[in-house]
Amino acid sequence: MLIDSHCHLDYFSEDERPLVIQRAKAAGVGQMVTIGVTLTQSRQAIAMAAVDADVFACVGVHPNHAADEPPVPSPEVIAELAAHPKVIGIGESGLDYFYDKAPKDVQQANFRAHIRAAAICGLPLAIHARDADDDIARILAEERAGGQKFDFLLHCFSSTRALAEAALAMGGYISFSGILTFPKSNELRDIAAIVPLERLLVETDSPYLAPVPFRGKRNEPAHTVHTARVLGEVKGLSPEMIASVTTTNFRKLFGKAA
Ligand SMILES: [Zn+2]
Repeated sequence: MLIDSHCHLDYFSEDERPLVIQRAKAAGVGQMVTIGVTLTQSRQAIAMAAVDADVFACVGVHPNHAADEPPVPSPEVIAELAAHPKVIGIGESGLDYFYDKAPKDVQQANFRAHIRAAAICGLPLAIHARDADDDIARILAEERAGGQKFDFLLHCFSSTRALAEAALAMGGYISFSGILTFPKSNELRDIAAIVPLERLLVETDSPYLAPVPFRGKRNEPAHTVHTARVLGEVKGLSPEMIASVTTTNFRKLFGKAA
């Protein structure tokens, strides 16, 4: 069984959501994590996880939304949401200097609040990193050095090899999305090749970033299988082995889901 470690079920309509989940299960994607990008959407994610045993939630504020619902949430506010039994992680949070939708200092304060919430709750942090590799690595290292204890994964990895290596050195996990299947993603496949098997996860980030052969169309959790297949090609492993390895890793990182 595969697990889609990162999707946005709240971007599907209420009518189609059960069908999307059904199609995932039929494709062998037995569980999925729906992840909030604002506090409001995080509450919706919890509601969706509450009604389906195989759907879990993460709660947090995405860097692109860090200035949408001021002020930046405190670690305690995030932790309070995370107390729900179906919330298994914190996020998504991180830094996005590509879209630059919130000032850098606000994004960084938001990121640090999520790191501290992860430490308070003992839950892993799902990190979004875009064009901000140095600051992501620096802030993770600073918070660790400051005594914060937390596990993390770099979700939808599309950053540099340097950030992958820095994350791995800190014990982080790396999750690959449909970007891994794109013809031009040779560099990304080279990075996937060096990530140890015990640190790999897969995801869709649906409804965005549909893998080949659905590229350009709306993505959904069922399509995790295509990323897993390409990851298997990179690693010289069968899709079944990739499913087994990534599901084991998921349960280790997201212990509250087990
Ligand atoms: Zn996402």
